[in-house]
Parts: sequence; structure tokens; C-alpha cells
Amino acid sequence: MIEDPYWAWLNENIGKRKHSSSDPQFKPPEHISVSDFSTAVQTICRMRDEFLKSHPGFLSNPEGAGTMMWDIDGYVDPTNVQPSHNAPIDSHIEVDSYELATLHYLLRSSIVLGAEIDAEGMQSFTQFSEACVRQAYFMLATRQELPTPVWVRDFKDALKSAGVASSAAVDKIIVSTTLRSQIYAYSYPAQHRIEVSAVTREHLRTVNLVLCSASSAILDPRTRSHSLKTGENIVDFLLPYVFSLYFPRVNYSSLPTPRARNGNVFSVAHRAAQIQAKFLLAHEYAHVLNHGDRKPGRGLEFEADNFAYDLLFEYPEFGENDDSYLIFTSAKWLFLYLSLDRIVGAVLSDYDIDWVDLPIRDRDALLIPRASTVKGTMEQQALQQMGDVLLFNAKYTLKARGSGWIKAAAREFETRHCF
Ligand SMILES: [Zn+2]
Repeated sequence: MIEDPYWAWLNENIGKRKHSSSDPQFKPPEHISVSDFSTAVQTICRMRDEFLKSHPGFLSNPEGAGTMMWDIDGYVDPTNVQPSHNAPIDSHIEVDSYELATLHYLLRSSIVLGAEIDAEGMQSFTQFSEACVRQAYFMLATRQELPTPVWVRDFKDALKSAGVASSAAVDKIIVSTTLRSQIYAYSYPAQHRIEVSAVTREHLRTVNLVLCSASSAILDPRTRSHSLKTGENIVDFLLPYVFSLYFPRVNYSSLPTPRARNGNVFSVAHRAAQIQAKFLLAHEYAHVLNHGDRKPGRGLEFEADNFAYDLLFEYPEFGENDDSYLIFTSAKWLFLYLSLDRIVGAVLSDYDIDWVDLPIRDRDALLIPRASTVKGTMEQQALQQMGDVLLFNAKYTLKARGSGWIKAAAREFETRHCF
């Protein structure tokens, strides 16, 4: 067997995490500094460069950088309906500006721009975005129901074809989608109903794009030196999206739109978001299918998470072509991102901040026993490690800047991005 440095590093990393998350003395932010960030980046990059001597890396492949990429699981189906430039805007019918912006964001997210798009491509995207505004307006003015997202529909079909639950039981469950601008899934077992925010997948895909593009640029020796600053300040790229979860009337249309460094980066970000959204949905299905009138509590939450992991890892129907490493990465990033979300939430609500946050760490700790069966390429491992480092660095930066700074940044966000 070939010695795999990434794998060794990863195992060591996981070992530490396991220890630290169960150790009440562990206070990560106090032990981490910018120099730790640099050391972590250097360690990953050293292994990376060693690997690149003998293998070209797909993350550095420039393919796609100059194009517009379709997210085929988005709200606009490129093979079927495209938003119409002629969809009428009847100014007599008022629509809610918050709903309009959110729906526009959802429709427009069906296209992601490559980082090196030219002026002509930029113009096409602007036209597409305008058509999406018209389409969004038309849908709201004519009171069309929000279509069921593709990932919600696919999940239900997969649940039936995998035979995890009886078709009759699955069919009884109604999944409704809302336009609330949050990462949000909630179940009402007594009513056999699950509610999800339509924004969930698109929001997570946007976050994944930030992480994948920055990680890939740092991993690439040609772009490393001028991407390190982005990595150090990654929290500034993530915060608008974190803040968006805490204000009721966010103008989603106005939030920064990250681009994909290349086609592979886009593909990872998109597929990871599919997995993350399905994880959240699977968790709620577990409550409805298996928990009935049992008393809610930690035990049921663990069961629901394990149900979700089992579906993703063990049934190819759910796991993006059986890509176990991508599932592993997606889950880790989801919980690291949600821990930023909880920190900001605590600051804005004046609660004590739980920097270790065992309840959320315990959710990805369930990955540890599964790690030995996870298989990934060197490329995937490098990307996941760099993404982890960026997310930990974001957490550290929040701690270093302090509550006062976070509150001021939130007020600034409210002025710039809320109705
Ligand atoms: Zn739950």
C-alpha cells in the first residue's frame, strides 16, 4: 500500500478532535492564532506540492473558469423552462419586496459564474438575472405556489426506491417549502408534515463555493500567495450569509455572489450542498417516520442524525454517486458552518457564547466511527482539510474580534442588506 500523507494527517486530526470535543478543558480559540492558521496552511500545502510533483491536480484545472455554469438542481431547469424576459410586470399588483428578493436569489442561483468570465458573459448573466426578477415578480403577482425543490422531490423518490420505509408511510408525509431566508427544516410528526426553507440548499451551496474556491486557490502554488489574505479573512466572506439567518427581512438579492474558480470547484460545491440539504431533510424524516409520539430529547436527535448518515453512506440513491469522501466533507463543513451560525446567534441575542459547542460538535462526531470506511482521492482530502482550516479560522477570527465587533458588523449588515 502506498503511504498516504493526507490520510495520516487526517486520522491524526480526527483523533485530536475526538479527544478535544470530549474534554471539558478544551478551549480551542484561546490556543489558535493567526500563526496557527499559517502553520496549518503550510502543512497542507507542503503535502500538496509534494503530490503535485507527480500528479496534476484537478482542483487547479482552469476548465470552466470563463464560463457560466448551470446548477441543474436549481429552480430554473435549463432543459425545460427558462425565465422569460417578457414576463409582464404589472405595477398595480404589489408584491412583497422581501419575497421578491428571495425568489430572485433562488432563480438566479441556477447559474454560477466562473471566476474569469469575460464582459460578454457578464452581460448575459445580468440579462439572466433581470429575467429572473421578472419571473419572480410574475410568480408572486399571480400567487403561484413555490415549486417543490428538486432535492426535496428526489429525496422522497429515493426513500421509496431504497426501501428504507414503506411507500405508503413516505407518501403520507407532506413536505412544504417556505421562502424563509434560513437554513431550516422542521418536522411535525403528529401531522406527518415537514417544513423546509427553499433557501437551504442554495444558501449552503453559496457557502461551499466560498470555501471551495478559496481552498483551491490556496492549494494551487500559482495562486497561493495572493489567496492567503482571503483565507485569513474568510470570515468576512461568510458573515453576510451567517447574518442573513438572523434578520427577518433580508434582501437576498443584494448579498455577495461568489464565483466558482473552475468547473471542478463548482461541481464539489454543488454536490456538497445536495448532500447537506438531504442530510437535514433525512433528519426530519427520521422524526416523522420513527419517532411518533416519543418524548423529544438528545437520544432522538442522535437517532435522527444516524438515520441521515446511514442513508447517505449506505444507499447510493442518496449519496451523490456513492462518493463517501464527499459525504464526509459535506457533513463536516455543515456543522462547522452551523457552529459559526450559533456563535453569531448567541452574540445577537446576548447569550453567553459557547465556543466549544458540544451539541453541534457531537453531531459530526458521529462521523468518527465511519471515517475508516471513507475513501477519497488526494484532491478531495486536500480540499476538505483546507476547508476545515478556513472554517476553524473563521471561528477564531470571530473570537479575536469580539462580541462588540460582531454586533457592529451585524448593524452594518442590517443597513446594507435588509428591507
Ligand atoms: Zn431533530
